[in-house]
Amino acid sequence: MRATVHPARTADDLPRMPAPAITNALTIDVEDYFQVSALAPYIARSGWDAQACRVERNVERILQMLARHGVRATFFTLGWIAERYPPLVRSIVAQGHELASHGHAHERASELDRAAFRQDVERAKKLLEDLGGREVRGYRAPSFSIGRANLWALDVLAETGHRYSSSIYPIAHDHYGMPDAPRFAHRVAEGLIEIPATTVRLGGRNLPAGGGGYFRLLPYAASRWLIRRVNAVDAQSAVFYFHPWEIDPAQPRVPGTDAKTRFRHYVNLGRTEGRLERLLGDFRWGRMDEIFLAAPALSSPATAVLPASRPRRADPQTS
Ligand SMILES: [Zn+2]
Repeated sequence: MRATVHPARTADDLPRMPAPAITNALTIDVEDYFQVSALAPYIARSGWDAQACRVERNVERILQMLARHGVRATFFTLGWIAERYPPLVRSIVAQGHELASHGHAHERASELDRAAFRQDVERAKKLLEDLGGREVRGYRAPSFSIGRANLWALDVLAETGHRYSSSIYPIAHDHYGMPDAPRFAHRVAEGLIEIPATTVRLGGRNLPAGGGGYFRLLPYAASRWLIRRVNAVDAQSAVFYFHPWEIDPAQPRVPGTDAKTRFRHYVNLGRTEGRLERLLGDFRWGRMDEIFLAAPALSSPATAVLPASRPRRADPQTS
């Protein structure tokens, strides 16, 4: 299928550029198909326990794929999933991957007040640490739901002992995004860095290059071109993400969804696993913590962009 915006056309710009020796961050948001924010209007949280879970087998497939490629990754895991599938958490840790937090109940940070957000991230961190036996240092907000209106959430993450967040997508999108946020890792609070999902700067705009639905929508060559460009032109590690349900074309269809949601969720599910195999072979991949938290603290590239002066909105309820 053809996408309208088509960076692949210019992929030949960089054909002979050798793959730079940059390690990119491979991240998996561990949640099941019925927990996706876009499907929230169609499945109540209270109904989650009645759904047929597929996350265990999908994560197992991912672990096997990573093992075949000798790749270690970061798994931003939902507390709700960890609570129900402790062996899944232990497998992730036992195989050398980084266990990180995706919060507990997949509620967008932008829809919670400070106290509720704190409760959600503390609950997930403690649960994951108890099950995994490792300190949880990373957090990714559901649907990249930290942005201009709720930057206080970063302070909460620092206060609750997180070392990094990967919760801001510096793009314009109808559900999330903060297009003027720094594109690369930068310090956002005492002891906390934000490591945004990857974008490519083209024509004065940030294009999403970090995976997710765009990886399924665009031809593989386009995704490869975007990541190569970040490595070669920006000399930065890319941060790429996908979900276990994205390699599962047989997942149950959620009834009643509107056409746009349906398209975004189901497009090219059958192609994703094959594309991921290529992606793992075409680049060098690693864990978030090993790439971005390595000593000396926050040297390259994390200090490349120092904090944009951000408005302090201490009280979200008033904004
Ligand atoms: Zn999520």
